[in-house]
Amino acid sequence: MRTSKFLLATIKETPADAEIISHQLMVRAGLIRKLASGLYSWLPLGFKVLNKVTQIVREEMDKSGAMEVVMPVVQPSELWEESGRWQGMGPELLRFQDRHERDFCLGPTHEEVITDIVRSEYSSYKQLPAILYQIQSKFRDERRPRFGIMRSREFIMKDAYSFHKDEESLQQTYEVMHQTYCNIFSRLGLDYRPVIADSGNIGGSTSHEFHVLADSGEDEIVFSSDSNYAANRELAEGGLASPNADEESLEQQTVDTGDATTIDQVSALLHIEPTKMVKTLLVHGADKEGNRTDDLVALLLRGDQELNETKAQKLDGVAAPLHFADDDSIKKTIGCPPGCIGPQNLSIRIIADHSVTDLKNFACGANTEGKHITNQNWSDQCKFNDSADIRKIQEGDPSPDGQGTLSIKRGIEVGHIFQLGKKYSEALNATVLDENGKAVVMPMGCYGIGVTRIVAACIEQSHDDKGIIWPENITPFHLIVVQIDAHKSDQVKAYSEQIYADAQALGLEVLLDDRDKKTSPGVKFAESELIGIPHRVVVSPRSLADNVVEYTSRSSGEKQQIDKDSLLDFIANTVNSQTSD
Ligand code: ATP
Ligand code: MG
Repeated sequence: MRTSKFLLATIKETPADAEIISHQLMVRAGLIRKLASGLYSWLPLGFKVLNKVTQIVREEMDKSGAMEVVMPVVQPSELWEESGRWQGMGPELLRFQDRHERDFCLGPTHEEVITDIVRSEYSSYKQLPAILYQIQSKFRDERRPRFGIMRSREFIMKDAYSFHKDEESLQQTYEVMHQTYCNIFSRLGLDYRPVIADSGNIGGSTSHEFHVLADSGEDEIVFSSDSNYAANRELAEGGLASPNADEESLEQQTVDTGDATTIDQVSALLHIEPTKMVKTLLVHGADKEGNRTDDLVALLLRGDQELNETKAQKLDGVAAPLHFADDDSIKKTIGCPPGCIGPQNLSIRIIADHSVTDLKNFACGANTEGKHITNQNWSDQCKFNDSADIRKIQEGDPSPDGQGTLSIKRGIEVGHIFQLGKKYSEALNATVLDENGKAVVMPMGCYGIGVTRIVAACIEQSHDDKGIIWPENITPFHLIVVQIDAHKSDQVKAYSEQIYADAQALGLEVLLDDRDKKTSPGVKFAESELIGIPHRVVVSPRSLADNVVEYTSRSSGEKQQIDKDSLLDFIANTVNSQTSD
């Protein structure tokens, strides 16, 4: 490809709405253009990268034994009624009607459609396990589309689904998919980690997310210093030893704390460490059907700990999503303002985090404005109904497997695998006949990869202040040949054309920067760095006079003068050796 003919849509200005580097570089390098909030077009340079990512995903999925299909983006409401998600799914599901006033949605995911296919096409356990996948556009009306294609409304996902005769087979395929995902992300050259994850509202039990490590990541993941334990912070468990479980109970006192309402203020005033305080958070409860009620539930945490909302909203009788009580309902229920609430004589349901159940002689609110209690201990007047793990893991906590301590890093979720169980197959009655001729519901797995998000995640990990640095496997071009002063030198023209043709004959994708003198060498160099081509060769009258050309590696920035007659061998060795790493 020649730059004179190629849509090299680089721009100098950083777009105002681009908060993170990948978004800035994708627009500046001319990979994507915004159409509307969360909707992007892929320009030729970006689409070349996207296709390479897609191809790696496809090759590894095919190797795993999965079969590729394509399902419609538009899905009828009836299927979603069957699974219960037409009502259950929030405004992320974009619904609309056709000309006959029939309800449809744009597919945010395809469990319903695939289950419908499998229930009619499969009849015997002998045909299982079946793994089907597609690589296709999804639409989710995200509350906050941001970071360009990282969290967009329309994006490309690889979604796979597996169907089994029993749980054991599901477990086996889950492990194959886990390995397949590791193969995919390794081939893509990403620094990634599989982590134990929350299966969220999609249902099911076991789940892992695959995260690319990057400071701009929206998720927090925790790792053990001494073992393989790694989990999403939303889900990570971990006990904490009480600082004073063996202390004798002292006599409690009610003390004036005036305007001090936060843990820090009360701690400073009373000279009590937050580790010996209990904070009480009030949230709304839920009825048996899971609907939010006006009843409040108290959640107790140690003063130095933070609430993990994902864990809390999974508790029975607690509204999901978590809904904190406002000042009015607190006043109405407890009779005092927030900031001095505590468990003593509290007549609502109380759930204590494990970090407070062994605490002795702690300070907490007295349920009276401006007052706290010190040397509080669990008793008939001060008790909790249940204890649960509802705190956020902190840096330095002990690892739940007993090996080492935990550290926290940020990650970008690029893949997610779930063991769904029978959630959808039961609802849609997807059965096959087993060995005894009996109809059995098939357990399912589902496996997603954010194909478009991978491109952004890769740039987050691989860039410098000049621009993108593409890994060899997904670069839009392997080599860029920059002509300098070709209008003055036929030799430059002829030699660069020769290299262009010969390198392509080696199977490389080559971009020849053949733009005329209106584009200065400085601009050509800057653009080649911005768009991140891994190998650059500069052909100029001066270097050819010395029988050499200048080669620059994008990743190391190192320059070398290469004898012009051995350039092709050099390119063949350099590019191939890096690709096979
Ligand atoms: P997130 O927590 O980021 O919203 P999710 O749990 O909703 O992700 P899944 O339903 O598991 O995501 O989708 C599979 C994959 O699709 C994710 O791992 C992610 O890489 C990608 N993905 C999800 N939502 C988006 C989006 N809005 N834009 C781009 N990629 C997305
Ligand atoms: Mg989501």
